[in-house]
Amino acid sequence: MQINVNKPYLPNKNKYYKYLDKIWENNHLTNFGPLNKELENRLCEYLGVENLLLVGNGTLALQIAYKLLGLSANDGVITTPFSFVATTSTLIWENLVPIFCDINNKSFCIDTNKIEALINTNTKAILPVHTFGNACDVEALDKIAKKYKLKLIYDAAHAFGVRYKNKSIFNYGDISTISFHATKLFHTTEGGAIVFQDKDMLDEAKSIINFGLKNNMPEVLGINTKNSEFHAAMGLCVLDDIEYIMQDREKIWKYYYEHLKNDFDFQELNPDANNNYHYFPILFENQENMISKINLLNQNKIFPRRYFYPSLDTLGFYDIKEVCNISRDIASRILCLPIYVGLKEKEQDIIIKYLKEK
Ligand SMILES: *Cc1c(COP(=O)(O)O)cnc(C)c1O
Repeated sequence: MQINVNKPYLPNKNKYYKYLDKIWENNHLTNFGPLNKELENRLCEYLGVENLLLVGNGTLALQIAYKLLGLSANDGVITTPFSFVATTSTLIWENLVPIFCDINNKSFCIDTNKIEALINTNTKAILPVHTFGNACDVEALDKIAKKYKLKLIYDAAHAFGVRYKNKSIFNYGDISTISFHATKLFHTTEGGAIVFQDKDMLDEAKSIINFGLKNNMPEVLGINTKNSEFHAAMGLCVLDDIEYIMQDREKIWKYYYEHLKNDFDFQELNPDANNNYHYFPILFENQENMISKINLLNQNKIFPRRYFYPSLDTLGFYDIKEVCNISRDIASRILCLPIYVGLKEKEQDIIIKYLKEK
């Protein structure tokens, strides 16, 4: 049997069918339907946020955030090179200029001590990532954003359920964006959400994601990235099981940690935030050792993933000035191990055995 880095969580099928019955009854398939409203309300309650809007995916969530905060062509945005490509590609797609700030070699989040040196008159925003769900230094980021009047957008795609000093991590910055892709901790098949601090911004966003329509008239420049009722139905079923999902991931995470803690280095977690056990990254001494382990695992039908790799300051399709050596170094020797609901201890034992083999 093959073990992949991830396996999407599938809820009880009969429960999903009951939601399908509701969709048939309502005859309302998309465009802010009742299941979308129900899911938004339940997510607000579960996460402890006020203004949450469901959108098509985590990528468009970022693009909508840039628009709403008034970023325009050629504005500079300070961001991290150690992330999934969408953090950077969305900036480029919107004709914004990514300015890469290196990461801290322990937290793998943006190094807040290196941001100020990168700020110039063209800089309009900061876009950090809560890397692998590890909360950024949100207080330092807040200070810098205020001091230089920069917008602060968090790509919080990995941070579902993370709380910092007992407050949802999504409540920091101007906007947080989340991904509800099938491979994420909580998912709606495809999907995502935007969390706003400002309620007016949420109302504006509702029209932007619906062609810019207000009272059915095109009043502002918009796009289409609404979520269907089928996506919301999946989300409602998965949300019902969220405690179980969290507990199972925690068990798997801790089992790996217990058995590997003397063999590898790990990301240092923010002591003021909780771990959501979304990923299990391990750090090798060098790339060569890692690649030989990957080969060994692959031969045995185990497929961990090099994540994040490559460091985004090396992207070939965009001319980048900054060189982020820490990000490049970490990206070259980090590996994410399989972690998903239902992964068995027996399977973990096999993975651990291969990793420990000399
Ligand atoms: C998954 C992910 C995204 C993109 O989200 P989609 O819903 O797949 O579009 C963006 N940023 C990060 C850090 C991600 O991990």
